[in-house]
Amino acid sequence: MSQLIKEPTFRESVNLMVDRAITAMDLDPGIATAIKSCNAVLQVQFPVKIRGKIEVFTGWRAVHSTHRLPSKGGIRYAPYADQDEVEALAALMTYKCAIVDVPFGGSKGALLIDPALYERDELEKITRRFTLELVRKGFLSPSTNVPAPDIGTGQREMAWIADTYKHLYPEDINYVACVTGKPVQHGGIAGRIEATGRGIQYAIQEFFRHPDDVKLANMSGSLEGKHIIVQGLGNVGYHAAKFLSEEDGAIITAVLERDGALINDNGIDIEDLHQHIIDHGTIKNFPAAVFEENALAVLEKDCDILIPAALESQITLENADAIKARLIVEAANGPVTYGADEILNKKGIIIIPDAYANAGGVTVSYFEWIRNISHMRFGRMSRRHSEIQGTHMSDVLELMTGEKISDVHRSKLTRGADELDLVRSGLDDTMRNAYQDIRQVMLTRDNVHDLRTAAYVASIEKIARSYLDVGIF
Ligand code: NAD
Repeated sequence: MSQLIKEPTFRESVNLMVDRAITAMDLDPGIATAIKSCNAVLQVQFPVKIRGKIEVFTGWRAVHSTHRLPSKGGIRYAPYADQDEVEALAALMTYKCAIVDVPFGGSKGALLIDPALYERDELEKITRRFTLELVRKGFLSPSTNVPAPDIGTGQREMAWIADTYKHLYPEDINYVACVTGKPVQHGGIAGRIEATGRGIQYAIQEFFRHPDDVKLANMSGSLEGKHIIVQGLGNVGYHAAKFLSEEDGAIITAVLERDGALINDNGIDIEDLHQHIIDHGTIKNFPAAVFEENALAVLEKDCDILIPAALESQITLENADAIKARLIVEAANGPVTYGADEILNKKGIIIIPDAYANAGGVTVSYFEWIRNISHMRFGRMSRRHSEIQGTHMSDVLELMTGEKISDVHRSKLTRGADELDLVRSGLDDTMRNAYQDIRQVMLTRDNVHDLRTAAYVASIEKIARSYLDVGIF
């Protein structure tokens, strides 16, 4: 990428987008500054003995807001992590939680590391030591600051974090709620791994329930048969692409990864490709698509929906003009820079913004945290009761109509919801409501013309109300 075009940093970019929303609002400037400020940032450097040698690791945890507690946000392991990025991501978490009515403040963490260079045991040692630093400095606990997975981390790391906290504070009855995204057998919740990708699917489904919005994006009809390009087939991208193609009939025409891109206009089978990546560690030599070395160029290929699900700053001043998608759904955080956003808006490309689109993860993390502090799996008290009620209902229907209900319908009527059903239904409801809130802002404000600004207005109004109701302490 050329170094000639100077763009704002990720944090500046988020702030500029927020400023655009604040300009469209009648907001006390003092409250606006309070909302935008990052409350605290911790930087730690700690030594770990690896293969007989001492290595010093650098990590951060930023707390953007504490108007609601705990503050919530993922921890990423990446060789390019820095404080600016962590602060930007923490700010996004504040706005994201408010958009989807999750009663948390915003936080984010990162460790400067390439996890691919370390063995499992070494990563465990590093993660436990990082956890110790965060806990000792007051940046991790079930009631104040709760991490989750992000790039380079997953269930395994979350289990190590929870276990380390438990050993430090065995008397804390809620210890397991100190982190979310854990394996189900260690206090996690069904449906958390798929949650962000699932949320992307629900967000797009809701978009297609509004024909005016679909028309605004120069499309028509339903999601079925729409051509989709996905950048990044990690946790978020894989689940989004899988659900959209297998359940909604969309066609994934290209997948971009760090080592190139695959193109097939008739559709790429996501499960096959996922298996290929597991087997070979690369998308190269996948037999059912054409390989293209220059992945970034494929972002510019014609499609209905472009889903960047990898990294920030992928659509910039350099390539925004060449983007041909009609709808961009920001599964990643910050994939579009501020300047690119302005260009895309002018081109009439609709953007479903990150602060809403990828909120499925934090929404289900909220469910997991509630499950942890209530010490009970969702559905445990009600499932059999629902089954009994459904059976009574079916019997009465048969009695009144004199007709036998088919086995298929009877089993649908009598089935009690398990935890996964409840999580998916809660997530679907959250994504639908939040989209409708954002849409309402766009329809009712003359000075709001895009979904990102509308999302920030909706979010900042809620945060400002919380500051004004309680006052500044
Ligand atoms: P991940 O590490 O599981 O996946 C990232 C994928 O992107 C990997 O497959 C990686 O190979 C690929 N990638 C890396 N560099 C690339 C490049 N230059 N071009 C194309 N592909 C590239 O991470 P994830 O958890 O799926 O997160 C992806 C994005 O979604 C991040 O921006 C993250 O902050 C955001 N996000 C994640 C969650 C979550 O629950 N995991 C929640 C909200 C937002």
